[in-house]
Amino acid sequence: MSEQPKTGQLTFVAPRRAKPQRHLADLTMAERRAAVAELGEKPFRADQLSRHYFTRLTGSPEQMTDLPGALRERLVEQLMPPLLTSVREITCDGGMTRKTLWKLFDGSLVESVLMRYSDRVTMCVSSQAGCGMNCPFCATGQAGLTRNMSTAEIVEQVVAGARALAGGEVPGGPGRVTNVVFMGMGEPMANYKAVIGAVRRLVDPAPEGLGISARGVTVSTVGLVPAIGKLADEGLPVTLAVSLHAPDDELRDTLVPINTRWKVAEVLDAAWKYAAKTKRRVSIEYALIKDINDQEWRADLLGRLLKGKLVHVNLIPLNPTPGSKWTASRPEDERAFVRRLESHGVAVTVRDTRGREIDGACGQLAAAPQ
Ligand code: SAH
Repeated sequence: MSEQPKTGQLTFVAPRRAKPQRHLADLTMAERRAAVAELGEKPFRADQLSRHYFTRLTGSPEQMTDLPGALRERLVEQLMPPLLTSVREITCDGGMTRKTLWKLFDGSLVESVLMRYSDRVTMCVSSQAGCGMNCPFCATGQAGLTRNMSTAEIVEQVVAGARALAGGEVPGGPGRVTNVVFMGMGEPMANYKAVIGAVRRLVDPAPEGLGISARGVTVSTVGLVPAIGKLADEGLPVTLAVSLHAPDDELRDTLVPINTRWKVAEVLDAAWKYAAKTKRRVSIEYALIKDINDQEWRADLLGRLLKGKLVHVNLIPLNPTPGSKWTASRPEDERAFVRRLESHGVAVTVRDTRGREIDGACGQLAAAPQ
């Protein structure tokens, strides 16, 4: 495990650690065919395997009846190693919200959260074990960065959710994952390559990938400006969310330490370029913290920065985290903040934050074994 970072300390580069075994979900279809050929088998076996994994959501050899018995075992061993082991599952909202604690091959712990709504199912996934961005109000940030996750480790969280839904394990009848948000543990833009690989596997049509609409995928970032630029060039219409939390550099320097590298103006500039290129509305995430960032003058300042842009503000009532001295804003301050933003014509909603009672809400994922 990593050491607790000092105040404001940023960790961009994940410690070097052993990598998880290669998995089908790490590879493009062409790479899968090559991998199968390397094992001395016909490339079309890769298509069969992909159908089992991405369409039928199965990883067990017994169910792969279109493959000869011995070959199944070998291909699964080589290309579908178990990457995630469920350590604990907690549910709330009558089973409609469910948080899973996963153990990775090297003992690292991460969490994902499935949230079922009347019209959609959202999977909130982790992209790193821990996080190096050190935001003082976020439980994940307090533990530091353990390591980057691989593409397949990220995808597996979604596949596990899809499997549970397809199997009718989640109340409300069989269903499927419609939305994926990279809002679990970690800073997705600090693990860019693996995250983009995962996004591609999610949106590629089955059986190459899961066939989830790119519009249903959201990548959230503290504001790594060069990576936002790269994401804009990928040609993927995924939603970008920027965790802003303050409209002024003085406060943002302390709430979101990455701001000491890239200032509010630079982050927003990158966001507007992203919106222009993808035609997608950018989400601005803003956790309302009592007497810290919830003053009307800050709402006004934020409104002036966002006015007329392709943007939507998500206000998140601050969720409690261990050892934090901060709490959520008073209801009247929250209302005033919303009104001020609206007076600038800025679209704003207060997030119906799920899973607070199971420490599964925004900023609460700590992957504690107990
Ligand atoms: N590192 C990325 C992905 C994590 S998303 C990012 O920060 O964008 C998790 C979201 O929850 C972020 O917007 C984060 O700032 C917010 N958050 C963190 N701690 C929180 C808390 N205690 N209450 C409410 N929101 C919080």
